[in-house]
Parts: sequence; structure tokens; C-alpha cells
Amino acid sequence: MSEPRAIEQTLTIPYSWGYGAGLEMFFSGTRDRKIIGLRCPSCEGVIVPPSEVCGRCFAQLDWDQPVELPPRARLESWTEIHLPFPGQPTQPPYILGLICFEGAATLFTHLIGETEEDKLALGLPLDVIWAEERSGDLYDIQHLRPADPALRVAPRRFAPTIGVDQDAEPWEPPVPQDQMTPVERIVYALPPRFVPEQAGDWQAAVQFIFGGDGGGSYWVEVAGGRCTAGPGEHSSPTATVKTKANTWLGMAAGTVNPQLAFVTGRIRVKGTIADVQRLNDRTLFERKG
Ligand SMILES: [Zn+2]
Repeated sequence: MSEPRAIEQTLTIPYSWGYGAGLEMFFSGTRDRKIIGLRCPSCEGVIVPPSEVCGRCFAQLDWDQPVELPPRARLESWTEIHLPFPGQPTQPPYILGLICFEGAATLFTHLIGETEEDKLALGLPLDVIWAEERSGDLYDIQHLRPADPALRVAPRRFAPTIGVDQDAEPWEPPVPQDQMTPVERIVYALPPRFVPEQAGDWQAAVQFIFGGDGGGSYWVEVAGGRCTAGPGEHSSPTATVKTKANTWLGMAAGTVNPQLAFVTGRIRVKGTIADVQRLNDRTLFERKG
């Protein structure tokens, strides 16, 4: 008997996740710039976000007695994230902190911003920085920052978008559509699909070196809220992708598995792999029509 054959693919599963009553109460609060918890009638600890039962002593909590806490916290633990993965709150690197709201008996996780990792210490007092526009979710809190101004640096990592140069000429492909090679059609399709509002402060320049028939060198750059692309060598690429034109076309057509091509060395990436992965992000590069 021969080996069973298989095609490897990745499934993306869209789903909705209901808050439940506790988070509903908490996020109704954050929309109005309030930190809301419930005081446990048994151990007296304030549970944030509210829940059905006290996580410390298992007593039933009283939903009619919400407690508002000040928008301050202390740092209990933290880590700096460098690895890119789907669903991240912002582009790495960023600091994720385990925090305790002032007066709370529970811990909470959120972004620590406007500072650097070597300025942090256990127990550090933090201030909640509210998002300007709040819609009742985790991002109502933009981040927490050290209460001591001496421990802060200028905010840059969590800026939702950078300024888009409205006066810049719209990007035009350097080759007319009907004269493009197959790889050019893929590379030059990226700039018109680019959604600057989704890009935050992402800056990247990906250099492609396509070997074999129909190959050539091309670059795609994201900078200043714009995406552009062109032929030849980019002066300072953040990532370089080397592959055969056929492999790239096969991936675009779905006949070549990207992970497999990567692990078998049919695609080689130098530099920031995340910059290459983001070119495939459908929220950043909308499929139009
Ligand atoms: Zn309790």
C-alpha cells in the first residue's frame, strides 16, 4: 500500500465571542472612562472585571453594587513581545503588562506604553490612558503608562495611524497592465489595495528576487501611509525574498503551499519575516471587486 497523500492548508475561522454580563458591565464602564468592579461581600476584595462569583473565595457577587475604581494601577509583571502573530493589538515590539487596578483584588492584562522595558519595575505606579474614541471594548484603554513622567518616552508605538500625505501623487504602475509579466501583476496589485488606516506606523520595504523564467527584481515599500512598488533593487530593504517566479505564482494561485515552500527552502527570506507576512494580510491589502 502506498502512503496516503494529503494537501496541507490553513483554515481561518471567523467567529463572534459574547462578552457575558461581567465584561458587558466592565466595557460599558470603559466607554465612559470608568474602571468598574464588584466588591465581594465575603472577602471584601474588588473583582475587576465583574464576574458571577468571587475568584478568591467563591462567594456570589452582588451585581447591584458596582464599584468605580480610579484610573490608576500598579505593575505586577510584564514582558516585551517581539514575535508577530495574528490578532495582535499592535505591531511588535510592545510591552504587555500584568497590572492591578488601584483598589482591585484581581489582575488585568494590557499594553504598557510611552516607556521602555528597562524603565519598568515591580509595583510601578501606572496611569490609564483612555482612547479618544471608545466603543466599549479592550481598546477603550489605549494603554497604561508610568505615572512618573521621568520614566516616560514620547509615545510612538501605539499611534493608531500616521499622517497620510494627501498631496502625494497617486501611485501608478511603471508598466501598463496589459504589458505586465505574471509576477508584475502580483507585485503591482499591492499598492492600489493598500489600506493606510490599517497600517498604523508600519514601515517596510520588501525586496523580491524572482529567479527562473519570468523572473526579475521588484520591491514593495510601505512608508508615510503609502504603498508603492517598482522594479530593481530597493536601497534599504527590511526584508528580502528569494524564490523562483513559478513558486511565487503557484502560491498566489493556491497550488503551492507557502509553509511547505518555506521549510523546503524554495522560498528564502532574509530580514523581517513579519514584513513579508503582512503583504498577505487582507485587512491591510483589501481584495477589491
Ligand atoms: Zn471573595
